[in-house]
Amino acid sequence: MATCLVTGGAGFLGSHLCDHLLERGHRVICVDNLETGSLENISHIRDGAFRFAMLDITEHYEIDEPVDFVYHMASPASPIDYARLPLHTLKVGAYGTHNSLGLAKAKRARFLLASTSEVYGDPQVHPQPESYWGNVNPIGPRGVYDEAKRYAEALTMAYFRQQGVDTCIARIFNTFGPRMRPHDGRAVPTFLRQALADKPVTVFGDGTQTRSFCYVDDMVRGLVRLADSGVHEPVNLGNPDEMPLLEMAQLIVELTESRSEIVFEALPIDDPKVRQPDVSRASDLLGWRPEMSCREGLRKTIESAIKGLERTPTL
Ligand code: NAD
Repeated sequence: MATCLVTGGAGFLGSHLCDHLLERGHRVICVDNLETGSLENISHIRDGAFRFAMLDITEHYEIDEPVDFVYHMASPASPIDYARLPLHTLKVGAYGTHNSLGLAKAKRARFLLASTSEVYGDPQVHPQPESYWGNVNPIGPRGVYDEAKRYAEALTMAYFRQQGVDTCIARIFNTFGPRMRPHDGRAVPTFLRQALADKPVTVFGDGTQTRSFCYVDDMVRGLVRLADSGVHEPVNLGNPDEMPLLEMAQLIVELTESRSEIVFEALPIDDPKVRQPDVSRASDLLGWRPEMSCREGLRKTIESAIKGLERTPTL
């Protein structure tokens, strides 16, 4: 049994990761300041091997027990959140990552950085392999997130090369599933909220921009596989099944049996035109590939969203 510290453990991905680690028999310390996460995401956990610590990781923090793995998931992650919290986003990427790497060093723990496909910016290479260095606008509205993650990757490699910390970097592509906040502004929860209310489903631009959506269970499995490996270089994790956003909106309308019409809105600044992971490295080094189809993942997400609506019908 290992002790795993999950920063951002009360968020969407972090809470699913906590569940998975507990299922595998590990102890879990969930560290979160609830900036974009919620206690509701972890309130179902009744396991003595789980503990929650309310901490802001941009400040120095300590944990008074041995730790074997640090999963560093904390960061605002949706464009709405990082537009609202630009300085915080930069601080989490810088001080938060620095503090969490320092903790991993002190505990001699394996460290996993939750990085993002956004390090590739609006890519000129498609699909994106890890060897591609990206095309990021540092001064645009998304720059605070993209550059924070790029800095966090550089910091992680410095701790690996110079400080001897056992690190790895997951470049996470769009992931969806239960517990995404209906108003977090990301495509799947937005389309879902609108379709379930029979309101117009708003697609940015003409909807031809593509994304590749990975179901959360596949992602969590990939994160743990990476943490358990001896790999140090960045690894793309995501579902290579690419689709135009308009198709995703149509699929959600179909699966929810909604009467919503699809309407088009202005494309946000620096919105990437394409996004598709090359997952050959994850497949070769970790033996990992996503297993859940987008359609099946959506069915599960819709089921959970409907249960949520029954509890709080005003969403
Ligand atoms: P989320 O907003 O649901 O979770 C982030 C968590 O971090 C929240 O619980 C939040 O309260 C916590 N947090 C933020 N600042 C903190 C601080 N200073 N101290 C302690 N906790 C803090 O987002 P998510 O979608 O679950 O994303 C998790 C991680 O995965 C992020 O690092 C994100 O960049 C990365 N990621 C996610 C996706 C995706 O599609 N969901 C894609 C790429 C990368």
